[in-house]
Amino acid sequence: MAHPYAWLDKSLNAIHRADWYRSVQTLSGLPGPIVCLEGQQVVNFASNDYLGLAGDPRLIQAAIGATQEFGTGSTGSRLLSGHRSLHCQLEEAIAALKQTEDALVFSSGYLANLGTIAALVGQRDLILSDQYNHSSLKNGALMSQAAIVEYAHCEVADLKAKLIQHRALHRRCLIVTDSVFSMDGDLCPLPDLVALAEEFECMVLVDEAHATGVMGTNGAGCVEYFGCTHTPLIQVGTLSKALGSLGGYVAGSAALIDFLRNRSPGWIYTTGLSPADTAAALAAVRIIGQEPERRERLRQHVQFLTQGLQDRVQSRGQSPFNLRPSHSPILCLQVADAATVVKLGRHLRQKGFFVAAVRPPTVPTSRIRITLMTTHKRQSLESLVNTLQDLSNL
Ligand code: PMP
Repeated sequence: MAHPYAWLDKSLNAIHRADWYRSVQTLSGLPGPIVCLEGQQVVNFASNDYLGLAGDPRLIQAAIGATQEFGTGSTGSRLLSGHRSLHCQLEEAIAALKQTEDALVFSSGYLANLGTIAALVGQRDLILSDQYNHSSLKNGALMSQAAIVEYAHCEVADLKAKLIQHRALHRRCLIVTDSVFSMDGDLCPLPDLVALAEEFECMVLVDEAHATGVMGTNGAGCVEYFGCTHTPLIQVGTLSKALGSLGGYVAGSAALIDFLRNRSPGWIYTTGLSPADTAAALAAVRIIGQEPERRERLRQHVQFLTQGLQDRVQSRGQSPFNLRPSHSPILCLQVADAATVVKLGRHLRQKGFFVAAVRPPTVPTSRIRITLMTTHKRQSLESLVNTLQDLSNL
């Protein structure tokens, strides 16, 4: 008889053969634009800490202060013994940033998506989901047991055709999308989605994980960027990227949040966010309001790097890189296959650059994913372009 766990080795071998094998790498010291990765100083183009707040002394002090005052853990679920005044303060601050009636903090962005989608729709309902949505949105849809129909990435005409075909057969309908797509950095066509939602009586859930703090004049995200601030929406996001902490949130109407507090297992049956994470995120939301120059500098970095990549890397005849369109601090260079991207990632690392070499199954096609931080030095961006230019000649 075969060993019941023998299949694990076989599967791992298959993952190796496909060049899909992944493992962790250790970073030491504070997060920032230059980090120590496995003992090597590298310029960090692989972080989601877009505003450079994860190592900011104000967030660190807030976390220390909250730990001293409230302890390390919140010790219970929010509805039992896990609720602290800090949670309310953070929820009020998020609602103020998003200009919504209320907000609810979850233990992670992943959980916020699972917990919200699964609470809002069920077997009699329909989910229309962008094909490139984040894993947490896809798994939330599966958990909900609603009928799931994917539409082609950002294709409004395809979404409309699918609404015409399916909407009338279901009770509620939820359109689900990333706002900044995490693997390409492109933006969803939010105003068009909102218009279709009105026409077909649908709710819209937009995941602002990569947009909060970054997009929009006040950093409220793509909802603000697209002028949809007072549109009835379900805005979900994370505290772990531009906010430099850990946790997730949902922002929307008072009724939505009240419903989730009563019906979302992913919020009800889990321990409240730790005091340290809550306080750090609260400090970050305040900084986002007070320091718009962080966003402005990040926008300038995006422009500079995009221009450099277009002029000096992309335009070369034999270049292995194909720059994907983006309006966010996530810039992607698509490459031919998984083996090439791994090789390029290794070369870049040898030259002192830490970038993500992303492969299937995370994405449909392999790519070098570069994320920018407001705290990067212009000189680091220039060196990255120079190095990529050299690599495009290899
Ligand atoms: N949504 C998107 C679009 C994300 O990229 C991520 C994180 N990679 C999440 C949700 C999950 O957020 P968290 O890391 O807080 O669980």
